[in-house]
Amino acid sequence: MNSVLDLAREDLRSRRGYLAASPARDSVRLHANEAPWCIATDGAEARVNWYPPPVSGDIIERLCSLYSVAAGQVLVTRGSDEGIDILMRSFCAAGRDSVLYCPPTFGMYRQCAEIQGAAIVEVPLLADQGFALDVDGIVEAAQVESARGAVKLVFVCTPNNPTGNPVATDVIRHLCCELSGRALVVVDEAYVEFSGRPGVAGLLDGLPNLVVLRTLSKAFGLAGARCGVVLAHPDIINLLRSVLPPYVLPTPVVNLLDQALQPERLLLLRKNIDGLLQERERVNEALARSPHVVKIWPSAANFLLVRFRDARGVMQRCERGSVLLRDFSYVPGLENCIRVTIGTAEDNRRFLNALAMEDVAPGDAGQ
Ligand code: PMP
Repeated sequence: MNSVLDLAREDLRSRRGYLAASPARDSVRLHANEAPWCIATDGAEARVNWYPPPVSGDIIERLCSLYSVAAGQVLVTRGSDEGIDILMRSFCAAGRDSVLYCPPTFGMYRQCAEIQGAAIVEVPLLADQGFALDVDGIVEAAQVESARGAVKLVFVCTPNNPTGNPVATDVIRHLCCELSGRALVVVDEAYVEFSGRPGVAGLLDGLPNLVVLRTLSKAFGLAGARCGVVLAHPDIINLLRSVLPPYVLPTPVVNLLDQALQPERLLLLRKNIDGLLQERERVNEALARSPHVVKIWPSAANFLLVRFRDARGVMQRCERGSVLLRDFSYVPGLENCIRVTIGTAEDNRRFLNALAMEDVAPGDAGQ
């Protein structure tokens, strides 16, 4: 095994990506078939009649210091959803390769695998051990080259959505070593800022088959802007970049990203996260006293997974109080379980009040 790119789709390895138009803004732009006018804005601050500039060196540098990586190890995408998608498309030949993940977990791993035509290998989390990873089960399943083809990508979500538990760094290192030359270990750290842990991007230099996904959608509060970051070996980053469409982030989003990464915003972020963690504790304590609750799993994320006596009744009560929750009862092993995101103190109060509301007796509805 010479290069981590040996794991990529053979037909993509030496392909050249689309050549985007030069981003120079101080020249007469007659090279990209753009309109010379801008009717959506007055055009002063965001020239949206021009194709977006690449994400600036300044922004990349701030991302590098945020995640402790080098510039060649960073790729900005439209949310982590797109990071997951381009990994599938770059490493899994349709109808031949497969993807491994550990349910119950984030649903996009399955979605993207299905769309790409990659086979799926599931190694369930160990429900009786706090939803820990079945590490031996993963290594074993990823090494079996079955009729379903080779496992090229192993997804590990930490803290996991929807169970909220983190995976230890040593476990990630162990998986990368065991699967070296066979598969990439893709560590999805969408919620890691809420966990008090540093994340595993610091391991990238010694582990070429490690890929880390970070997002600006959660702690950074930019879900509407669609910004994610893939951190990986520079060869992987170059391949993924060649698979992405050109001009990937819209101009207003590049500007938002620039603002969100300013030092004073990062201080504010720290303060907001601390406040949210206090709220998580407060909601946890209130739920623990509720007669409706059977179990609350420990969480390292901005949500709690809660088993209720009657999840359907809780959903109905909250709906009447105009509070939206995510019911996971349909997932095997998560019967009567609901994921509750931690909001502002007022949001959380609304949720707890809705939960405590009297049930509507049959026949009372609509009165
Ligand atoms: N990974 C996990 C574990 C998630 O829960 C989510 C969003 N719910 C994502 C990735 C996708 O994030 P993004 O908004 O960056 O696409």
